[in-house]
Amino acid sequence: MAISAADRKRVKSQGFLSNRDGEHFSVRIITENGVLSASQLKNLSEVAERFGNGNISFTSRMTLELPGISFENIEAVKEYVAKDGMVTGGTGAKVRPVVSCKGSVCTFGLLDTQAIATQIHKRFFEGYGNVTLPHKFKIAVGGCPNNCVKPDLNDFGITGQNRPVLNTEACRGCKKCLVESSCPMQAAHFEEGTCQINRELCNNCGICQRKCPFGAIETHTSGCRIYIGGRWGKQIRHGSMLKGIFSVEEALDILEKSILLFKEKGQPHERFGSMIDRIGLDKVEQELLEGDLLQRKQQILEKA
Ligand code: SF4
Ligand code: SF4
Ligand code: SF4
Repeated sequence: MAISAADRKRVKSQGFLSNRDGEHFSVRIITENGVLSASQLKNLSEVAERFGNGNISFTSRMTLELPGISFENIEAVKEYVAKDGMVTGGTGAKVRPVVSCKGSVCTFGLLDTQAIATQIHKRFFEGYGNVTLPHKFKIAVGGCPNNCVKPDLNDFGITGQNRPVLNTEACRGCKKCLVESSCPMQAAHFEEGTCQINRELCNNCGICQRKCPFGAIETHTSGCRIYIGGRWGKQIRHGSMLKGIFSVEEALDILEKSILLFKEKGQPHERFGSMIDRIGLDKVEQELLEGDLLQRKQQILEKA
């Protein structure tokens, strides 16, 4: 049966991407936060065997694709995965599925990344599911400055932060300072009888706070760094870092403002990073940190 271009476009928007043979489709399954239950995995194995070619592939953005599905079976696949609470999709000029690292369980994790990803999924992937943007909008949540999920190469990236401060009264001026020897950025130095932290070099990884046997390194601020306008692909742009460390709640509000600003000011087919370069980072940062975008949400979303 010949499949029309209109039908291909329609099913692509539902997460069914044409295979190279021109006859079959790969269905893209959204994982919400990169975690699937055993029951969901079993369901997908059954879908692959019943409707696909028996294979399941992992995408670079934490979704799964099952290739080899015929056009006639698309509705059956959607119904089958829905039995275990899964949906298909994740294409088009809109908020894309969020990617997070395993910061929730990782020994370096400073954020509950998977829980934050679920929040983002519900509030923005689902909440803005019907909102057409100038281009795709990718989001990543990383648990620490090791940047395993490369947050700064996404339109909006969050990285966990734990900014240390030395309690000079608790510091005993040890002969061998464990903070100095454990700092991966060589930001901590033993000088003048105590440990000093070079703020220019410190990336707020928080490792030193676990190393001092006398608890002399305390938390000054914990939260998130935010990067905006990153991209990786045909063109590359490292995300611009916003000034400051933000709470998760603040970061999610800034994320919502970023999406609204992109909707309001982005030109057709323009990525968020290009929009930032066109408007100017200072202006964009001011809008995101001080602007009234959330108050104007309804008005912005009514824009065609
Ligand atoms: S970014 Fe940090 S918290 Fe996340 S997986 Fe990598 S090391 Fe772990
Ligand atoms: S920071 Fe901790 S390990 Fe380093 S000199 Fe002070 S007390 Fe010793
Ligand atoms: S937070 Fe990380 S980079 Fe900064 S001083 Fe501590 S160990 Fe070094």
